[in-house]
Amino acid sequence: MKRRQFMGLLGASALGLLLPGASFADDDDDDERDSTRTTSSTATTVPADTGATGRVVVVGGGMAGVTAAKFLRLWGGSKVQVTLINPDTTYPSNIMSNLVLNGSTTMANLTYKYDKLTLLYGVNFVQGTVTGITPGTAGAVTLANGRIIPYDKLILAPGIEFDAIPGLDSNVVTHAWKAGAQTTLLASQLKAMPVGGTFVMTIPASPYRCPPGPYERACVVADWVKKNKGSNARVIVLDANPFIQAERTGFEHAFNVTHRGVITYIPNVTIASVNSLSRTLQTNWGTLEQTCNLSGTGIINGGLVGIRSASVLNVIPPHKAGRIITDSGIGLNNASAGRWAGVDVRSYESTAVKNIYVIGDSSSTGQPKAGHIANQEAKLCADAITRSLRGDNTPNPSPKTNSACYSPITATTASWLTVVYTYDPVNMKMVAVPGAGPTEANAATQDNFKEMQQWFANLMADSFA
Ligand SMILES: Cc1cc2nc3c(=O)[nH]c(=O)nc-3n(C[C@H](O)[C@H](O)[C@H](O)COP(=O)(O)OP(=O)(O)OC[C@H]3O[C@@H](n4cnc5c(N)ncnc54)[C@H](O)[C@@H]3O)c2cc1C
Repeated sequence: MKRRQFMGLLGASALGLLLPGASFADDDDDDERDSTRTTSSTATTVPADTGATGRVVVVGGGMAGVTAAKFLRLWGGSKVQVTLINPDTTYPSNIMSNLVLNGSTTMANLTYKYDKLTLLYGVNFVQGTVTGITPGTAGAVTLANGRIIPYDKLILAPGIEFDAIPGLDSNVVTHAWKAGAQTTLLASQLKAMPVGGTFVMTIPASPYRCPPGPYERACVVADWVKKNKGSNARVIVLDANPFIQAERTGFEHAFNVTHRGVITYIPNVTIASVNSLSRTLQTNWGTLEQTCNLSGTGIINGGLVGIRSASVLNVIPPHKAGRIITDSGIGLNNASAGRWAGVDVRSYESTAVKNIYVIGDSSSTGQPKAGHIANQEAKLCADAITRSLRGDNTPNPSPKTNSACYSPITATTASWLTVVYTYDPVNMKMVAVPGAGPTEANAATQDNFKEMQQWFANLMADSFA
């Protein structure tokens, strides 16, 4: 009962994230990014017996999976055995990874370990990749090495997979949309860009992870090239969407005013193929190639006229649910053309397969694909599974979540966006609470930038520490 009241209040108080002005005790940002040095605000005692018993397997140790594993133990107690499976022993955070591109931080600073989950909460961590799922009463997952792990409840949190684009070789033309080596490669390509060079990036059609993220990247890179690559350097943003997908007022201001003369933003551009070696693109408007001269900056409607060739090309392909979901077909949602998993957003149980739950970017919920939302979906799911393992399968009638997102606009300023979501019983999706967003910052400020670091530290500690 107490937990359900807490879940109802998530939108208003979780992590102190709803109000961007909320202050936190410690703002020593560099230290906070290393989970080994971050103190969790959560009591670390796993209760011995809450009446819940069972085996839960969590596939994917990202923002969603890690949070679910931790809170299943905290709320379910020691008789809920939790096994977390992830291919690597560390997790590179996507969040804040655009700040690697301007040298403000490094991927090493943004890398998190699973040791706290094991030591403090008794989560069983298994390094591996799940390649098969056997649903039903003898439910089990199979790993690439052949190991079979049985479950009573299975949570799938594999993040996203990209569509293939003809000619795209991501060893040469990065996406940097799954942080890690890709991010470091893009940062080094930018560093090596000639003075007066052009950075071209493409944005896929929605839904993609982190709606403000690509616009944030354009701003961070524009700010950096201004200072490092001469007054002729340019950032060109080719967006498959008809308009900026998040914080529209703020990013329009950033493109037209803050970074005027550097950023050119062109909507409605889809990518048909890429020549990775020559860094050219075939688009619905024609070819982006070597010969054109830049004719304008700011927001431009109407094709690629005047676009320069790319010195550095960054192509973010269209997204779909993680491969284990699309390959197995488990839970795929007809309404999303088989690209995302359908779930009951009161529990995150698959609408197609009992006892399998899908959280984070892979599910279709009415909410943005974001780390903050993944954290909250994970808690709602952990709560539903804990109750179910106790014999209570009554759905939470009014789940609430909130999404706060900060976007760096320069190396020292940031904007923010916040929304509260609630359950819509008619469409059975999460919808924005009327009057509770989306609300965006009035301006990009240095105070917002500091709060962004505090928000990030709190979010990562809530999941990993
Ligand atoms: C540049 C960038 C900036 C962003 N900024 C923000 C931000 O400011 N705020 C915000 O809220 N969100 C932000 N996001 C979005 C956020 O990173 C994602 O929404 C979030 O990580 C989704 O969590 P997830 O757990 O679903 O997926 P992930 O965090 O991607 O984790 C998935 C995990 O599952 C593992 N996995 C996949 N398949 C298998 C398998 N078969 N077996 C075992 N493990 C598997 C993967 O290796 C990975 O570790 C940003 C994203 C990007 C790219």
